[in-house]
Amino acid sequence: MKNALIDRFIRYAKIDTQSDASNPECPSTPGQLTLANMLIEELKGIGMQDLSIDEHGYVMATLPSNTDKDVPTIGFLAHLDTATDFTGKNVNPQVIEEYDGNDITLNDLHNIVLSPSDFPELTGYKRHTLITTDGRTLLGADNKAGITEIMSAMHYLIEHPEIKHGDIRVAFTPDEEIGRGPHKFDVERFQADFAYTVDGGPLGELQYESFNAAGARITFSGNSVHPGTAKGKMTNSAKLAMEFHSHLPAEQAPEYTEGYEGFYHLVSMHGDVEKTELTYIIRDFDKDAFRTKKENIVTITEQMKEKYGQERITLEMEDQYYNMGDKIKPVKEIVDTAYQAMKNVDIEPLVRPIRGGTDGSQLSYMGLPTPNIFTGGENFHGKYEYISVDNMDKAVHVIVEISRLFEKQA
Ligand SMILES: [Zn+2]
Repeated sequence: MKNALIDRFIRYAKIDTQSDASNPECPSTPGQLTLANMLIEELKGIGMQDLSIDEHGYVMATLPSNTDKDVPTIGFLAHLDTATDFTGKNVNPQVIEEYDGNDITLNDLHNIVLSPSDFPELTGYKRHTLITTDGRTLLGADNKAGITEIMSAMHYLIEHPEIKHGDIRVAFTPDEEIGRGPHKFDVERFQADFAYTVDGGPLGELQYESFNAAGARITFSGNSVHPGTAKGKMTNSAKLAMEFHSHLPAEQAPEYTEGYEGFYHLVSMHGDVEKTELTYIIRDFDKDAFRTKKENIVTITEQMKEKYGQERITLEMEDQYYNMGDKIKPVKEIVDTAYQAMKNVDIEPLVRPIRGGTDGSQLSYMGLPTPNIFTGGENFHGKYEYISVDNMDKAVHVIVEISRLFEKQA
């Protein structure tokens, strides 16, 4: 099993599927289609049914039910693309058998070392088989580990027909890292009652709550006059912007918040006397607190308009995604079953809110409740990314066990 996982993962990791936010097409890069087409062939090879791939690279397939019981249709999803933060070209995975707990030299030439002194959680991986980068690229375990685990679980179920399950739907989707994963996802055609993204981090992660998210851009218009003769004439837009920011609660910022706490995050400020622009993201788990935060932005804008003139300030604000927990809580048994599945294969579930969004945040609001489960990967999106093959194997067993439990409970 381990060798098959390694081979499969490396095959996918070697294809450059980095997405590209600057390209409005879907998929945003051709490598994603290359991987999608490879996956279609492999799904066919292991005996999956109803294969489809559309022009946007969305791959779907079915493992048909092998029981007479009326079991809900479960979906499993992973994304084809890798992050844009660090290069994903020429990924050259390194396999470390029986990790000894010491420093791992990723790249001799450039002295790039993956060390437990920087990443203390490494010590928990003693005796595991690890896959790392060669120090020059990201690994892309986010999310090729998820694809590997779903493929391997389907293969396992096909080879073990004694494990009974209902219809299982599988989908691999493009452009998650640039926030467009679900945009062209056909929930109707997917026909699952609910789904899981296999896109989390370390062993045991189980997530069903995400932020509510909005973005705001506030533009301040000033009036530039020679400073020597500016009295009573100049309006300095940069100072208006500073005044605006000073009205926000200072402690509600990313660097002061954790757990279920929300924030206003000043993402960027650009400006001079004549024109200044502030960009914020607004995040909160609680729907009411989220609304209050947005109202606060509007109120401050209105008050400053009163003070300095309507034309001085413009506000653009729009919602980005919502807390999937509000859609998943009514069908909480899908989280409980994943929790039980982890327990059954000796994993201690780590149920934590996602301080961000996933494809599941959007899918849950499109009618497909979709919590997220772990892949086993660490340090996503950079050259220190690595994954334990032992934990990938556990993820495979969690997928199999979720499928088995829903049949058993039916
Ligand atoms: Zn991901």
